[in-house]
Amino acid sequence: MSHQHIIEGIYSDVQPFFGRGKVADYIPALARVRPDQLGIALQTLDGQTAVAGDSEIRFSIQSISKTFTLALAFALEGNDLWKRVGVEPSGNPFNSLVQLEFENGKPRNPFINAGALVVTDVLCRHYDDPKSVILNLIRSLAGSDDISFDEEVAASEKATGFRNQSLAWFLKSCGNLHSDVDTVLDVYFHQCSIAMNCRELSRAFLFLANHGVHPYTGEAMLTRSQAKRLNAILLTCGFYDQAGEFAFRVGMPGKSGVGGGVAAFIPGELAVAVWSPELNEHGNSVVGMQVLEWFTTRTGRSIF
Ligand code: GLN
Repeated sequence: MSHQHIIEGIYSDVQPFFGRGKVADYIPALARVRPDQLGIALQTLDGQTAVAGDSEIRFSIQSISKTFTLALAFALEGNDLWKRVGVEPSGNPFNSLVQLEFENGKPRNPFINAGALVVTDVLCRHYDDPKSVILNLIRSLAGSDDISFDEEVAASEKATGFRNQSLAWFLKSCGNLHSDVDTVLDVYFHQCSIAMNCRELSRAFLFLANHGVHPYTGEAMLTRSQAKRLNAILLTCGFYDQAGEFAFRVGMPGKSGVGGGVAAFIPGELAVAVWSPELNEHGNSVVGMQVLEWFTTRTGRSIF
């Protein structure tokens, strides 16, 4: 059966799963997103594509952006990065403050907010204009020059991001944030606000399936060993405190965001992006997880 056929089947079978979660409501721009939307897009390394539903509607990628910033920071710093941020699943909510204090300001992993702020700090130290570097990378990977920040989302994140501000200042007090705190937060809120659709996101994740090599330009963005490590962290930490369950049910490394996006991949084969805004209590898309669970079950493919 073709990927297109499988995805269309899943799109139709998953409809009863709407209404089981809640759209993120911590900022108005996310709270007003219609809950009953679902986009699916798949891209293989050998050039096949499959799409269903709202695959052309752009949404806020939120924490999925942490994948791209980590790839950039890892390429810049190599293994020195792990002196400042760990690689263990946190088992705590993504914006937890307690764990950071217990562990003396070294975030458990780069995908909880504290870890992502350290990663963004690395980019702020290396680049004069880190926002453009992040955006240009995503545009190039996705093959869309008009992907951009959603300034309304970025401004609301800033106006209400008290927890992220607390995390950043705490990191600063521990000596683990070197740039100006407001500068790091501004870049972080902007990276979270980037708006993409599923087709663009599945393309943008394909370099992870391609062992760190940009599939369209052939440029090695990471070494093969670095790509292996990044993929391992995505598997163990990519879904907040539900990473174990995602690996158990789906069996692919990937990353989610509170905008309802989920991007995942099978090394050497393909990347797939799903978007549906209703979230479970961990901040992961309810319908998105179900789609991916059925995708690996019905295709018989996963990393295991
Ligand atoms: N902007 C959100 C935050 O920083 C992103 C969270 C997420 O997607 N998990 O809290």
